Amino acid sequence: MVATHDRRDTHVTTAQPDGSALLEARGVRMDYERRRDGQIVTAIEGLDLSVAEGEFVSIVGPSGCGKTTFLRIVDGQVHATGGQVLLDGRPIEEVRRDRAMVFQEPLLFPWFSVVRNVAYGLECQNVPIAEAARRAEPYIELVGLAKFKGHYPHELSGGMQQRANLARALTVNPRLLLMDEPFSALDAQTRELMQRELLRIWEEWKRTVLFVTHQIGEAVYLSDRVIVMSGAPGRVVADIRLDLPRPRPLEVKRTPRFQEYEDEIWHLIERQVVINFEQSGGGEAGL
Ligand code: ADP
Ligand code: MG
Repeated sequence: MVATHDRRDTHVTTAQPDGSALLEARGVRMDYERRRDGQIVTAIEGLDLSVAEGEFVSIVGPSGCGKTTFLRIVDGQVHATGGQVLLDGRPIEEVRRDRAMVFQEPLLFPWFSVVRNVAYGLECQNVPIAEAARRAEPYIELVGLAKFKGHYPHELSGGMQQRANLARALTVNPRLLLMDEPFSALDAQTRELMQRELLRIWEEWKRTVLFVTHQIGEAVYLSDRVIVMSGAPGRVVADIRLDLPRPRPLEVKRTPRFQEYEDEIWHLIERQVVINFEQSGGGEAGL
């Protein structure tokens, strides 16, 4: 049912072997110099991944396996020390408008209203404020905050703040939306509702999303494909295409097929977590 790959089988062929992928990562490596002792730490090694235009792809893997690092490379914040990362066939060299990143913390300015916060991304591109606010409107509506556009962040719940944050990312009209555990700070119920909201928004917006999460169920619920990364140094160990119809009501989470996917992915990660734990001499495990 699903394509999984042994730990030794590092080469995973994904969706678009003909080079027509929106995002193509080949043999990506990332070495960091550890500040404390100057040692080189390899966070990612031999990571291959293709993402087609319009796909919703999630990445799961043990903590410290390089998920955030990979998103930062794709965003252009840092350069890979090896391999290639191509967007539309061109190497990613810097932060550009064709990508937007959403983090766990909403990062809203407390002194700006929702509309100013959402428009801020456009303002940074030198769009005059009145026009930026006008262009922000449909996205504020899309994320369900139309009635709150004059509110300030402290007047919003965590879920609403994250909606505003998402609207800001969408307003700059990126081709690729990068989301790094965006719902991790929310309570369980809000998180579920935000997952459903994100799918509704994505189905309307129809662009490409690369989504990192700790929660396997979240990855399965949202995605066309779930990418499982190995423990550090991170690489792709499984690329699972989900055969779950859309649109997906939250009830899909209670179907046997959904739970089979969750189990399958959990077993893959569990193995990685155990390997991590053993390699670190019992000092580090955890998802
Ligand atoms: P994840 O998001 O999967 O938890 P990260 O990408 O944050 O993993 O980190 C992967 C590895 O790279 C970790 O060992 C982390 O300590 C290391 N790392 C991340 N950023 C830096 C940095 N700026 N300098 C040095 N090491 C880093
Ligand atoms: Mg991270």
